[in-house]
Amino acid sequence: MLTVLMLFVSSCLTAQTEVYPHCQGALTFSPSSGFRISAVADAYDITHYAIHLELYDTLLYTKGYVAITATVVQQPLDSFWFELTTALPIDSIRYNGQNLLFNHNNDEVVAFLPAAIGVGQMFSLLVYYQGVPPQQANRRGMMLSNAGIHPALFTHSSLFWAKNWLPVKQQLSDKIDSIDLHITTQLGKKVASHGILVGIDTLANQKARWNWKSRFPIAYYLIALSVSDYVVSNRQVLLPGRTSPMPIQDFSFPVNGPSTALLDTTGRVLQELSLFWGTYPFAAEKYGHAQTNMGGAMEHQTLSGMGFYNLGVIVHEAAHQWFGDYVTCATPSDIWLNEGFATYAEALFVAQFDSTAAANIRNGWQTSVRASAATGTVYVPAGADFSRVLNTNLSYRKPALVLHNLRWLLGDSLFFGGLQHYLSQRGFGNATTEEFRVLMEQYTGISLTTFINAWIYGGGFPDYSISWNQRGNELLISLFDRSGAAAGLFDLPYPIVVVYTDGRREKIRLEPGFFQLQTFPIQGTIQNILTDPENWVLESAFTTAIRDMNLAVDEVEKTHFVLYPNPATNQVTLQFSASTAFSRLIEVYNMQGKMQLQQEVEIGKTSHTLDILTLPPGIYLLRSGNNTQRLVIQR
Ligand SMILES: [Zn+2]
Repeated sequence: MLTVLMLFVSSCLTAQTEVYPHCQGALTFSPSSGFRISAVADAYDITHYAIHLELYDTLLYTKGYVAITATVVQQPLDSFWFELTTALPIDSIRYNGQNLLFNHNNDEVVAFLPAAIGVGQMFSLLVYYQGVPPQQANRRGMMLSNAGIHPALFTHSSLFWAKNWLPVKQQLSDKIDSIDLHITTQLGKKVASHGILVGIDTLANQKARWNWKSRFPIAYYLIALSVSDYVVSNRQVLLPGRTSPMPIQDFSFPVNGPSTALLDTTGRVLQELSLFWGTYPFAAEKYGHAQTNMGGAMEHQTLSGMGFYNLGVIVHEAAHQWFGDYVTCATPSDIWLNEGFATYAEALFVAQFDSTAAANIRNGWQTSVRASAATGTVYVPAGADFSRVLNTNLSYRKPALVLHNLRWLLGDSLFFGGLQHYLSQRGFGNATTEEFRVLMEQYTGISLTTFINAWIYGGGFPDYSISWNQRGNELLISLFDRSGAAAGLFDLPYPIVVVYTDGRREKIRLEPGFFQLQTFPIQGTIQNILTDPENWVLESAFTTAIRDMNLAVDEVEKTHFVLYPNPATNQVTLQFSASTAFSRLIEVYNMQGKMQLQQEVEIGKTSHTLDILTLPPGIYLLRSGNNTQRLVIQR
């Protein structure tokens, strides 16, 4: 989803670009159970929805019934639980031709079955209801365009508000296997929804019924429909791996609709994303956009809802069809598996024809993330409110940049191959962060535990200090993370470009290492060194590589030392492998990266004893020249 309206409407916003979450302080969720009571929600597995509603684009009112078909799991079912706003009264709940008794309180419904339904049995309930869908501030569900905007009745559920118009189990893990929609409206109006249009039935009293069907599993929050006097435009795209073209269908307002040129890009977007991630998952049906006044955009399955149009949002919502719709985050804590990828796709697509523009997009995110998300984790902690779940910097931009880091770490072949593996293994289902990690590791053979711990479960960024020197045909360079993160946490390689005095440029990949001096053979005289010029690595600030004339490889060899005793109590001695003609420093850092002690070793000495009485017990890093050893202080 992508929300922008707040730029115009809300006074409770700062630098965020989300609409509704910011005023929702009190509502929280529990990531382990989705949002609600998992025991009653887990009691059945939904297999089918048939939505029969009467809706008009001039009236905020809904009337009809929803047929829910489900299978009993775990234990015999004697009551059926689901969610529906109490603002929409239920007329009746029908089961096997009889009315059921039910309770409807606090947006939850419990219908009592006449006899328990056995495990493995399939059953259907019809929920008849009508009323005015609630229009709470900053919440969503079913809405009518306001005066002055083009008339349309539309839904936008987001993760939280499907129950404001639909009887539903708001549980991400139970996808509805297939769905039919039968929407009655005024004759001449058009109803936009999922999958394939089966037909339009002309009814009495100047009405018509639009019948849509989709045969792909769909998460509750991706169900949507809209009614307006749409202009429908049809395009086609031949997707990779397909022998016949797929329809692209756009429902646009007759005035102030999107440009033809912009809609024309949709096919190419789907083609490019198919090449990255595998063929568009719903190619047997369609893709398209339905224009609404939702003030953002939402990745409704096979037909995204669009409050505005530009290339970025077209790519973002299309990308969600893979990341969000085909594979849905298993809990709100894992929302980055939806939004990080959809956001990353915006730069990924642009990079296909303009790498500078793509870099500028990423730079913009990086600036924003540094400024607004210096702390906080991509993984949403338990008890977070909606504003945290959909935080622009932590749930959209930072994970997009983290994915770019991961691509840099793995290289294109393993990165994109791993993503295709992940999608194929979890397609039409859900995924947790851990499942993502394990599937990427399966494909790449590379452990990603440290990476995920640092970038998804942990906050902050590395803060690099880079110094270099040239000795003959050798580049000496050291990379040091000063962020205060545990040593080796941000375990990423780092890209540099060596610029020679004759104008030649050479790319070099520094391996991750804490204080480690690295050497590279070079040919020519180095003029300067560019740090991460393509902006692969998310770091706390732009890093400048500084020439250190004292950095020398034989110095490094001479600064090998043995540390004793270790653990130490009051004193520790460094025994060097050779004496040196230079004076050299010994520095002691704590595990937060802060220097605690600094002493100079006299020229010609081969050992030096440090008094460490002032340091509290703990683990330290002791550095001399470009060698580092771990020192444990015990008392
Ligand atoms: Zn999104």
